[in-house]
Amino acid sequence: MIALKNNIGSEFVERVRAFFSADGPLSKAKNFEFRPEQQEMAAAVAKALEEERHLVIEAGTGVGKSLAYLAPAILFALDRHKKAIVSTHTINLQEQLLHKDIPILKKMLPVEFDAALMKGRQNYLCPRRLERALQSAKELFTGPEASELQRLAEWASTTRDGSLSDLSVEPDPKVWTQVCSEAHICTQKTCGQNPRCFYQQARKRLLAADLIVLNHTLLFILLGSPDAQQERESGFLFPNDFIIFDEAHTVEQVASKQIGIGVSQYGLRSTIQRLYNARTRK
Ligand code: SF4
Repeated sequence: MIALKNNIGSEFVERVRAFFSADGPLSKAKNFEFRPEQQEMAAAVAKALEEERHLVIEAGTGVGKSLAYLAPAILFALDRHKKAIVSTHTINLQEQLLHKDIPILKKMLPVEFDAALMKGRQNYLCPRRLERALQSAKELFTGPEASELQRLAEWASTTRDGSLSDLSVEPDPKVWTQVCSEAHICTQKTCGQNPRCFYQQARKRLLAADLIVLNHTLLFILLGSPDAQQERESGFLFPNDFIIFDEAHTVEQVASKQIGIGVSQYGLRSTIQRLYNARTRK
């Protein structure tokens, strides 16, 4: 039995090491294979978390690196009342974490924890905007668009979480942009605690989670957003959180795209043309 509360120190590293040992709790998992590199990696992650320092690891295929960082991250988050944020580049890896690795840890770790996937706000249907769009459908939409709006209205009453991934057929983007959650339109003051608001429900799940999975693009959009900066106070996205990047080789490229300044020939030309059109001389 592993006791974790109030007992964190180098002992924490040894507990993590024991979890991955040949006869430790993880050895009871289906298809478990003792991997010394995985155990070493998990211990190194635990040590870095405990000492609050950065750590870069390059692990070869087959090491089982996801479990090696998830297990210490979850245990550390619970012990220190923090949130562990795991950022990935690809949806495939997110799916592997959510549908394979996290369920294994839910069974094998001697603690209970909550995990949630964070999606961008515009992935969620906004019931308030949907209602308004339905009221002005004749003025706003063409015939096929109005039918699409009707399809979304029917889906809204049966969907599990009101997010794009729960729709069997991708919606018409023109219609979806009129009914999805939007930062500048959305205020809890006007909506209150709307029980049908999918975005508010998702936000509640995130606030209650110990482990949050998201992608690099969303992470850097949020890091660059002034609203999120006010909200997050002492952490990166949430108070007192810490971040683990998987597929970290793409971080520089994604970060510079989302928070950097870019200049392109096309962008410059279209900006100048908005100021002065040489053909019309206006
Ligand atoms: S809180 Fe925001 S997303 Fe939710 S219903 Fe209101 S406006 Fe829409």
